[in-house]
Amino acid sequence: MRLLRLLPLACALVASLAPLTAKTLIHAGSLIDGRADTPQKTVTLVIDGDRITAITPGYTAPAAGDTVIELKNATVTPGWIDCHVHLDQQNSATSYAERGTLNPGDFALRAAYYGRKTLLAGFTTVRVLGDNTGSSIALRKAIAAGQIDGPRIITAGKSIATTGGHADLTNGLSRELMRDPGPLEGVINGADEARKAVRQRYKEGSDCIKITATGGVLSLAVNGQNPQFTPEELRAIIETAHEYGLKVAAHAHGTEGMKRAVEAGVDSVEHGTYMTDEVIALMKQHGTYYVPTIYAGRFVADKAKIDGYFPAVVRPKAAAIGPLIQATFQHAYESGVKIAFGTDMGVGPHGDNAREFLYMTEAGMPPMVAFKSATIEAAKLLGVEKDTGTLEPGKFADLVALPGDPLADMTLVLTPSFVMKAGIVYKKL
Ligand SMILES: [Zn+2]
Repeated sequence: MRLLRLLPLACALVASLAPLTAKTLIHAGSLIDGRADTPQKTVTLVIDGDRITAITPGYTAPAAGDTVIELKNATVTPGWIDCHVHLDQQNSATSYAERGTLNPGDFALRAAYYGRKTLLAGFTTVRVLGDNTGSSIALRKAIAAGQIDGPRIITAGKSIATTGGHADLTNGLSRELMRDPGPLEGVINGADEARKAVRQRYKEGSDCIKITATGGVLSLAVNGQNPQFTPEELRAIIETAHEYGLKVAAHAHGTEGMKRAVEAGVDSVEHGTYMTDEVIALMKQHGTYYVPTIYAGRFVADKAKIDGYFPAVVRPKAAAIGPLIQATFQHAYESGVKIAFGTDMGVGPHGDNAREFLYMTEAGMPPMVAFKSATIEAAKLLGVEKDTGTLEPGKFADLVALPGDPLADMTLVLTPSFVMKAGIVYKKL
């Protein structure tokens, strides 16, 4: 009687044991692992659950129950990481009206849609550097819970600015809508408010902090490069963030604001348009990463040529700043600054993130170095290098396959044939 009662339990145990022993084997014709300077040819990646357990030479035959994925004509790389996206945004000629017409639910659903597009383009991890409504925090949770397909998300939540600064979202509104936003909404004046805004982001569930250290292109304000924080405010933000285990990313175009941010200890400079040799030397001294976002620069420069696309206050900034970023990138790379891949998508169209690779190689970065900037270097900047950024045993099975040899033809990055995140296949052509 007792035995009979136990029988269904025993069957259930056997059934649940079977998938545990089954592995996924990937036969890769060429493997860029994120560490070596040359690809390995003809290897098998062994994946158990969400992790890589082995990488062995040759094509290993499967054991009973194993799944084999044939990528013999492809090049497999670690899943790519975009260190600068805004999933709830998509710039267009009408986007300025959205702050008066869209609700948090609209932003959240849009972020989910663009997140999926980004994943299918080969980006298994993204860092969201600012959203309007906290949608990226909700999306991060839903993706992690397996409820929505999308990349692994590291997010800043709401960016931190000073009154009238680049991420003060009430810029350019009528007096009634303009109000006087404070630290709760990421707008600070003085060191105490700076600390409060960081603690508020921590409370809301942000993984990192984004500050707008100088003016920016797309905000409804006249100056695209003025310094917007005092050194004291910067130190208050960065010290507090680091105490809470949050890294700090600084949007910066102008030299003075960039210099202040680097001296105060930010972890990355975003855009970096007017980066001088003095700033470069400081970044190398402090170990600060540069996240170039060449794509966004080229995108706004192109749109500035179209009459009526940008508001009058934005157009001259886009025309002046946009075209410079690719040359800044080239100089920073040649000078030995650490570079992590980032596009600022949400300015440019989500899903086209990989085009940044073409802009980087066009400016003189070798393809293998560009891949490292979007894998191991980006993982180090985000603090996730123990889990992703290279293909080796113990790491998440985050990988992208390209149909051919990208080191000979970099345009292959635009057409990934296979995307896996944490052992789950999201795309297979
Ligand atoms: Zn941005």
